[in-house]
Amino acid sequence: MTDETTTDAPQVAFKDLNLSPKVLKAVEATGYTTPTPIQAGAIGPALEGRDVLGIAQTGTGKTAAFTLPMITMLSKGRARARMPRSLVLAPTRELAAQVAENFDQYAEGSKLTKALLIGGVSFKEQDQLIDRGVDVLIATPGRLLDHFERGKLLLTGVQVMVVDEADRMLDMGFIPDIERIFELTPFTRQTLFFSATMAPEIERITNKFLSNPVKIEVARQNTTSETITQVLVQHSARRRDVAFKDKRAILRSLIDRDGEDCRNGIIFCNRKVDVDVVAKSLKGHGYNASPIHGDLDQSVRMRTLDGFRDGSVRFLVASDVAARGLDIPNVSHVFNFDVPSHAEDYVHRIGRTGRAGKTGVAYTIAVPADDKYVDAIEALIGQPIPRGENPWDGAKGKPEAAPEPSDDAAPEEGKRSRSRTRSRRKKDDDAPKADVDAPAEAQDAPVEAKAEEPQREEPREERSRRSRGGRGRSGGGGGDRVMGLGDHVPDFIGMSFDERREAS
Ligand code: AMP
Repeated sequence: MTDETTTDAPQVAFKDLNLSPKVLKAVEATGYTTPTPIQAGAIGPALEGRDVLGIAQTGTGKTAAFTLPMITMLSKGRARARMPRSLVLAPTRELAAQVAENFDQYAEGSKLTKALLIGGVSFKEQDQLIDRGVDVLIATPGRLLDHFERGKLLLTGVQVMVVDEADRMLDMGFIPDIERIFELTPFTRQTLFFSATMAPEIERITNKFLSNPVKIEVARQNTTSETITQVLVQHSARRRDVAFKDKRAILRSLIDRDGEDCRNGIIFCNRKVDVDVVAKSLKGHGYNASPIHGDLDQSVRMRTLDGFRDGSVRFLVASDVAARGLDIPNVSHVFNFDVPSHAEDYVHRIGRTGRAGKTGVAYTIAVPADDKYVDAIEALIGQPIPRGENPWDGAKGKPEAAPEPSDDAAPEEGKRSRSRTRSRRKKDDDAPKADVDAPAEAQDAPVEAKAEEPQREEPREERSRRSRGGRGRSGGGGGDRVMGLGDHVPDFIGMSFDERREAS
């Protein structure tokens, strides 16, 4: 593979990039004045028909880096029924929907047709769109293959294929799907491939499927932005089994202490069951908070995100999978309710704030068992996370000023009586067990154990893939893939089935 590496992109203007006049007009309408480095580096070669390997994260403008040349290239020619002319693969529904929105914005006036194939939406409507013929198909890998296997889609007309957030695909176990999709498209296609990191597995598939790509690497954001004030709030619970409750009190104290400066925030939990509990607890205390994770209905997730974007939801309580890569401008605060067990997730999480030159605050609540994760994060970002004061009274061993309302804050009567009974039984943990799908022992488990033992479920997805003729490589079941991954154990190993299938 011959690479050309561009680290310092030349200063060019959009008009110098050979984009079509319609696309230039759409760009102008967005108000962007200068291409970002990934755009400056990728658009020209993409328009020349070259394969592109972009090493860039969300927030670098990479969506426009592939959408703008695609729209320009596709303006000539027409789509045939069931044979899309281009394909964009994204790891999650939200990211796919975000790409689709970008297309709509930039393709205005270009008369291109597009279809968004994501899970949680009926096949029928998607089938109808494909039947009519689409220029651009934007999809999550699982749903795309479902359509293919139902015989509704041919990928032999794909001229341009984009793989977005490939490292996330790897974490979610989608690489075999991606390989299969590559193999279903013509080898003459042009490939635009984006990944924040070049893990060995990513390197392998780029070597296999990209042809003499132009490689553009933009400065990694591992170095956390200087516009973000990072604070680590440490807490030693007086008893391990109350750590979860204490952390909820600390979270509220941090929010209260920052007052109006805390305009809005994303609160990250490591497990989706805790996302629900924390959101519910915050609501019970009168905070405007909504959960977002893979078990929620797609329409609910979209509504919640829209609410967060338009300010009607102040706090988004989120899992990494649900929030990864989302472009949500103007977030003042990020709270790591749990220290992420993958150091890179820390960078992604706190990168939700302090965007586009704005300032932001990122709090991380840590208990002693998180020490090894904090060490890993500090090693990755190359600096210590400044320690800050724990603002919660109870942290100093004083009794809590006011008792935390338990499920009593929830409106339904049934929950009240349940909660009261439980609070008599186990005073220190008011987590609404009856409303979440975690086993009781997971709720009561000390927080230390939670971080180390993500929920595991039987990988049903693998079974269903095999039974459907398999999306993996020949004969490769899930077990084979895991063994073959060497040191890289992707996140999906620890994810539940639903989290892994969140994308499709
Ligand atoms: P992305 O990395 O594609 O998620 O884009 C991150 C954000 O940058 C989005 O809000 C885009 O609207 C914005 N953006 C993309 N290109 C430009 C540009 N050339 N100038 C300013 N903002 C941009």
